[in-house]
Amino acid sequence: MFPFAFTQAADERSALAAGERGGRYIAGGTTLVDLMRETVERPATVIDINALPYRDIKLDPRGLRVGALVRMTDLAKDPRVRTQYPVIAEALELSASAQLRNMASIGGNIMQRPRCLYFRDVTSACNRRQPGSGCPAIGGENRGHAVLGASDQCVATHPSDLAVALVALDAVVIARSRGGDRRIPVARFFREPGNTPDQEHDLRPGELIVAVEVPSGPHTARSGYLKVRDRQSYEFALSSAAVALDIQGGIIRGARVAVGGTATVPWRLPEVERALVGHTAARQLWGDAAQHAASGARPLSRNGFKIELVKRTVARQLATVATLP
Ligand SMILES: Cc1cc2nc3c(=O)[nH]c(=O)nc-3n(C[C@H](O)[C@H](O)[C@H](O)COP(=O)(O)OP(=O)(O)OC[C@H]3O[C@@H](n4cnc5c(N)ncnc54)[C@H](O)[C@@H]3O)c2cc1C
Repeated sequence: MFPFAFTQAADERSALAAGERGGRYIAGGTTLVDLMRETVERPATVIDINALPYRDIKLDPRGLRVGALVRMTDLAKDPRVRTQYPVIAEALELSASAQLRNMASIGGNIMQRPRCLYFRDVTSACNRRQPGSGCPAIGGENRGHAVLGASDQCVATHPSDLAVALVALDAVVIARSRGGDRRIPVARFFREPGNTPDQEHDLRPGELIVAVEVPSGPHTARSGYLKVRDRQSYEFALSSAAVALDIQGGIIRGARVAVGGTATVPWRLPEVERALVGHTAARQLWGDAAQHAASGARPLSRNGFKIELVKRTVARQLATVATLP
């Protein structure tokens, strides 16, 4: 470890002031503390934000608003979320472990960093950690890495399950600074690595996530999350799919599909959605539409299996969600 200052923000004003001075916010600490122990992150000041009033889960006809400090467990077990936004509850329940979910916050979950072993090993080169140093994953251990959205600078996947559900549902991140609030669509919040893999998201220095909003719609209740991984618990996704469908009279009126575990950012699949809308909900359709799931995919030396896997994950979850009662 290394020396750092620790401060507990009593209110939003002092948190934002400390954030503007370059301090790093901490909520549940389940990922930042690990990264600090490994010296991947070396903040000079850590600001505990747990006293701030961002713990509400509000639901009204316009949608769902979740405070950034709501714990993963609490959001997953909320009966309104379970019935009206099941894809969110399922993505959370399939994440991490019960102990981690009890501590981990929604804001921290969105802000978690890649699990790439080269990123987490400070003796390795990594363009994300140290721009220009190289990406050993491209020619190395890349079985878990991305086939979608990768660049020749970085191929790490985004690890959050929740973020995949949020992208599918057109959620918005509410970011606060002393200058006011910004509303950032989750689909724009995460940045593909391109030539600047160190710039992972759209949050500005010192900005605080205060909430996430998810609009309501006829598709949200008929939704679900499928996660495929090497073991059935306490493991990150090799492939995952968040699906929400609006089916009326047997016809698909609206479709939202996003995948995780296969892309550098939570990855929406507009081609799959277009192949669904307007068609009769029928068995043949799921496999046909899912053929578009790997559009533009580029395999690395050890992860070519993900191209077929992502298609099958999407096809299976479409079938599951379509036949929900
Ligand atoms: C062993 C293990 C397995 C895991 N498995 C999964 C999994 O399967 N799926 C999954 O999705 N996740 C998984 N996780 C990740 C876990 O979900 C995250 O660690 C957790 O959600 C982070 O939340 P936190 O509140 O503890 O964040 P912290 O560690 O407190 O913070 C994380 C980051 O977010 C920033 N931050 C926190 N709150 C705010 C805010 N309000 N505004 C701005 N910045 C903020 C911090 O500065 C920091 O950079 C796993 C973690 C571990 C350790």
